[in-house]
This record gives sequence, C-alpha cells and structure tokens, in this order.
Amino acid sequence: MNRIDLHTHSTASDGSFRPAEVVRLAKEAGLKALALTDHDTTDGLAEALAAGEKLGVEVIPGVEISTRHAGDTMHILGYFLDFHSGKLEERLSVLKQARKDRNPKIIAKLNALGIPITMEQVEAISGGGQVGRPHIARALLEGGYVRDLQQAFDIYLKNDGKAYVQKFRFPLQDALGMIRDAQGVPVLAHPFTLNLGSAGALRERFLDLQAHGLAGVEVFYSDHTPEQEALYLKLAKELGLLITGGSDFHGANKPEVTLGNIRSRDRLTYDLVVGLKAWRKQEYGQ
Ligand code: AMP
Ligand code: ZN
Ligand code: FE
Ligand code: FE
Repeated sequence: MNRIDLHTHSTASDGSFRPAEVVRLAKEAGLKALALTDHDTTDGLAEALAAGEKLGVEVIPGVEISTRHAGDTMHILGYFLDFHSGKLEERLSVLKQARKDRNPKIIAKLNALGIPITMEQVEAISGGGQVGRPHIARALLEGGYVRDLQQAFDIYLKNDGKAYVQKFRFPLQDALGMIRDAQGVPVLAHPFTLNLGSAGALRERFLDLQAHGLAGVEVFYSDHTPEQEALYLKLAKELGLLITGGSDFHGANKPEVTLGNIRSRDRLTYDLVVGLKAWRKQEYGQ
C-alpha cells in the first residue's frame, strides 16, 4: 500500500462527494495518502482529516488556487497547509465572494439565451459548498440543453463561451505568498494548460515560476500525454523542482476520472509525499 493521489475535489468546491466520502473512496481504492485540493477553499479539510484519522488514510491538507500570470490563468496547488491560522481563509474569502458575484451573472446570460435555469437549481446541485461552472454544466445537462458536460463547457461555459463571465483571480505572486505564509508547499497544477509546447518556452516559464517561489510541478496528471509527462519530468529534475501527481478527481462532475487511477498510476507513489515533506522541513524548519 504505497499509492497516493495528490489532486482531488469534494463538495467544498466542485466535486460531487463530501470530503469524508472522498477519503472513504481513497481507502477503498487502497491509497496510503490523499490530498484534498478544493478550488479556492479550505472548508473541506477538517472533515477530510477527521475521516482520514478514522480510516487510516493520510490526508494532506491542500488547496488549488486559480491565479493569473503573464496573461495566462494558472492553477497553483498548495500542500501541507496550516489552515487553522485563519489568515489563509481570510484571503481565500475574497475568491469566494468573487464566485458569489459571478454565478448569477452566468445564469442571467443563460436566461437571456432562452435557457431558464435558476440559481436555486444550481445551488441544489452543488450540495452546499461553493458553486462553480461544473455545477452550472450539470444543470444544463439535467435540463436537456446539452448532451453532456463537455458540451455545456464548449458552447456556454468555457472561457470564450456564450455565457462566460470573468472572475477575479489573484496574481500568481499573491497565491504563492498565501500558500507560503501558511507554511504550505506551492506546486504548479497540470502544466499542459499553459499551452507551452516547446521545451525551451516551458523551461523559461518553470524558471520564472521557481524564481517567484514555486516548489514543484504536477508531472503526473489525467490529461497529460506520455510526451508531456516525459518533458515535465525531465525539466523538473533538471531545475530541482519537486514532482507531484494526481487525478483531479471530481466524482460525478468529471465522470471519466477515478481516484488514484491515471494512466501513470504506477508513478503515484508515496515517495512524492516524502519529497513534499522534506522540502517543507528544509524551507520552514518543521
Ligand atoms: P470555475 O472554478 O467555476 O471557474 O470552474 C472551473 C472548473 O470548471 C475547472 O476545475 C474544470 O473542472 C472545469 N472546466 C473549466 N474549463 C473547462 C472546459 N473547457 N472543459 C471542461 N471543463 C472545464
Ligand atoms: Zn474543479
Ligand atoms: Fe485545475
Ligand atoms: Fe483540480
């Protein structure tokens, strides 16, 4: 029992399972460690940690923060967060408010397009946590307006979709800073979303991020091709960046992804966690 998953979502953001259920599924899947990395919130962590204690799964308190950098959006994962201080939560509350402001605007755009879904419907789908686009996608699917979740994004919700609305994002430096202030380990999520194909451009970007305080790169990921994975692995090793990996499990909101079960599942092993812990110890002395 050496397997892990370092990228998962619960009902605290846009996953379909409660935090404790995600941990139970990890136990069933035979995982030794699991990081809960909900979007822009630490709200699910206490429940997940308690479930982990009970079930004998090591739960790593994490988060996935949406940021902007060099005209791009970029997701930064934070691991081993001290989330009890309240400071991190206070900063993340800015993002929560940004979601609250944005969701009704997306619904209004859909309504103007002749699709009568309501905020109440979407909130019911979200299961009580933060509402995000995947929940709106589910509402579109349940109403019969699209044939699957992907089509909901492709037509309406993706970044230049018909009902897209911008949302406030912290600059990269702020996200790295708030993770570091909480004694966490900041890692670049799913680098393929940077759309940097060439090794040279990617190397420059990794170096730039490292200079801003980034500690690692998510090399192993559901949507990475073998070529992308090999390139990220090579660059991470060359630059001395930590290597992590995870599935980006969302339950029913991303039904093709199951826990701990990516193409390179054999690489999702506990030594990645050991690396995170060692970095943290060296950086913060604990
Ligand atoms: P939000 O946080 O509300 O902006 O929603 C972000 C989530 O929507 C991401 O974590 C993805 O799961 C999903 N998502 C964003 N863009 C797409 C896309 N083009 N296709 C499918 N899912 C997407
Ligand atoms: Zn998500
Ligand atoms: Fe992400
Ligand atoms: Fe994610």
